[in-house]
Amino acid sequence: MMDMSRMKIGINVDIQRTDGRIHSAVISGVNPEAKSVTVEWFERGETKGKEIEAEAIFSLNPHLGEGSKPGGRETHSSQSQLNDDDDEEYTNGSVSPTEPPPLAGKGRGKKGGSGGTVSYRSSNRGTVSNAQETPRFSNRGSARSRQSYATRPPATQQNGQASNGQAEVAEVAKKPGIPVPADRRKSNCVKEVERIEQRRKERRDKQVAIKEQQDVEYDTGDPNWQFAAMIKEFRAHLEYRPLTSSDPIVNHQISVCVRCRPLNKKECAKKEVNVLTVPNKENVIVHEPKTKVDLTKYLENQNFRFDYAFDENATNEIVYRYTAKPLVDCIFESGMATCFAYGQTGSGKTHTMGGEFTGGRGQQECAKGIYCLAARDVFKLLHTKFKKADLVVGSSFFEIYSGKVFDLLNKKQKLRVLEDHKGQVQIVGLKEEVITSADDVLRLVAHGNNVRTSGVTSANQHSSRSHAVFQIILRKKSTSKLHGKFSLIDLAGNERGKDTNSSDRQTRMEGAEINKSLLALKECIRALGRKAGAYLPFRASKLTQVLRDSFIGDKSRTCMISMISPGMGCCEHTLNTLRYADRVKELGPGGRVEGKPAEIDLSDNYNNMGAMSPQNSALALLKTANQDEVTDEMMTFHEKVNHMQELEEEIIDDHKSLIDSSQKWLTEQKKLLKQSDEVDYDVEAYAKQLDSLLGKKIDELVLLREKVTNFRKDIQEEETLSKNMKAGKKK
Ligand code: ADP
Ligand code: MG
Repeated sequence: MMDMSRMKIGINVDIQRTDGRIHSAVISGVNPEAKSVTVEWFERGETKGKEIEAEAIFSLNPHLGEGSKPGGRETHSSQSQLNDDDDEEYTNGSVSPTEPPPLAGKGRGKKGGSGGTVSYRSSNRGTVSNAQETPRFSNRGSARSRQSYATRPPATQQNGQASNGQAEVAEVAKKPGIPVPADRRKSNCVKEVERIEQRRKERRDKQVAIKEQQDVEYDTGDPNWQFAAMIKEFRAHLEYRPLTSSDPIVNHQISVCVRCRPLNKKECAKKEVNVLTVPNKENVIVHEPKTKVDLTKYLENQNFRFDYAFDENATNEIVYRYTAKPLVDCIFESGMATCFAYGQTGSGKTHTMGGEFTGGRGQQECAKGIYCLAARDVFKLLHTKFKKADLVVGSSFFEIYSGKVFDLLNKKQKLRVLEDHKGQVQIVGLKEEVITSADDVLRLVAHGNNVRTSGVTSANQHSSRSHAVFQIILRKKSTSKLHGKFSLIDLAGNERGKDTNSSDRQTRMEGAEINKSLLALKECIRALGRKAGAYLPFRASKLTQVLRDSFIGDKSRTCMISMISPGMGCCEHTLNTLRYADRVKELGPGGRVEGKPAEIDLSDNYNNMGAMSPQNSALALLKTANQDEVTDEMMTFHEKVNHMQELEEEIIDDHKSLIDSSQKWLTEQKKLLKQSDEVDYDVEAYAKQLDSLLGKKIDELVLLREKVTNFRKDIQEEETLSKNMKAGKKK
């Protein structure tokens, strides 16, 4: 019979753990009904406890029958011993929890025990598991491998139980069909670790090799070297089929092409990355560098397709062959041809149109520019196929700057643009020189270029703000009647359209005109594609106004060469240029799409146009067609600028005539005054005449003054509008 009264709280007893270990514990509670006690012991910095059958305590502590004193026994193992044992036994698994543990294992020489019957009720679940795992990882090196190891679910968890102690491991292992293959598990773990080590080593070796190679190929100190490497990788997998001079020349009414210039010396010195790839004769790919929020660098490869794509190796001759050359015939067939160089400043417009720069400032090899190449072909045809056509060739060269026309062949004289009642547009007084050879053209172009770029500002600064128009004109020799005209245009830098935000009025006015003219140009070309009846918003800008007759009629043909710079720093402008060009003729990036550009619904504009000035109704169309780009504010701004420009022209005209009439007025005044010197002069008649003369002058002056007052108001309003626009942008 068990004497439960001998079980006293606070006395030391030996207990046996499920794994067979025997160690000391203190009785913390007695349950006579259940014939059990709860015991507690200290292990790894924590107090643990469990409930044990009194019988098990008695059999392990026979002295209890003889009576015991609290604290009268020594503990069997030190804390560290316990820990070591724990680890060793658990990982080795040499003790089968299903069998009674060898009680003599720890040299105690005690018998009996009821291994496996205890239940574990520790309130510190989880801590044992951690304590067990820590040493397992302690010799495994990096935290990463530890983590990856730790993510593997432990065996007990796989069975739907928490891994919280050896007692439980033993419990689980006792269940039939769930073996605890301790040996095998260990060896699997070791193998896994070895595999991880091996893989890591391989990865490291590979990375070292890649890094060594990259160090040789790239300047890895350069912040953009990864982009360069990604682009190189992209190109390595491309099959290149660039345009060659044996490719067929396709005749289009509207042709849109792209030309990429090479990186220049300065860009190369700065280690600029070339972000353009021209894989074939019609596609261009922009590798747009991007960075994710986590700072990962990647490329967004944007593909565009045009009628022709010229890579950095294309010469001016090749570009000419597929762009302007096919248009030369058309002017002999009494048609109108236009060829535009469009793009950002420094992208190669002047190089393409005017000729290659061969050295010092302004030194241009005009013979290799499209102006001269076209003129040469005009003369070739004139002397062969159209020998008997009774034609004479003339040439004009002018510049449009801030909505004003300047004659480059006549001392940069400012010219008026007038439109007659039939809508015919004329540049009044534009000099047209008769030319008889391509050499004449060379001379004119060189002269015009000098005039164009002379002044304080550098060549590119000035030319970036103005459109240069070179024209080859065919007239009937006998009647001087216009037969055909080829206009070759070196457009203002498209980035200048953004200058509408400038705080300087002059720059703002230039920007407004450039913005308007490039939008209008796009719509005029699209209207040409739509043919009969298409509304032509040519009045929206001076450029489109002077080229009006080139956008109408079946015989009109046009070509746009979009120039792009290859540098990564130009990427945004490059994409803008390509998007614009894409809108002119919507070929789309995929397979060839024949047909006209998309129609725009103009009905609203037509309905509202009655009340508008012709300029503003043209502007309204630009807005409808370019909803994304042209805001209401921008429209109001452009309308104001238009109004200002109209008033300015009127005032300048009036001012000129005031000076002319004033001279006449002065002569009349002098004559009248002289009359008063006469002895018998008619005072009444004198007074009447003077009154009339003064009245006329006053009327004239008042009228002009009114206009000037309005003009000044406009100037103020423009200033306010532009400030508001800027403030709106900043928001
Ligand atoms: P834009 O007229 O568009 O402002 P430029 O024609 O003046 O640009 O060209 C800018 C610079 O780039 C010039 O120094 C020019 O010589 C050079 N360049 C342009 N296109 C090419 C090209 N295709 N090949 C070599 N250099 C070029
Ligand atoms: Mg230029």
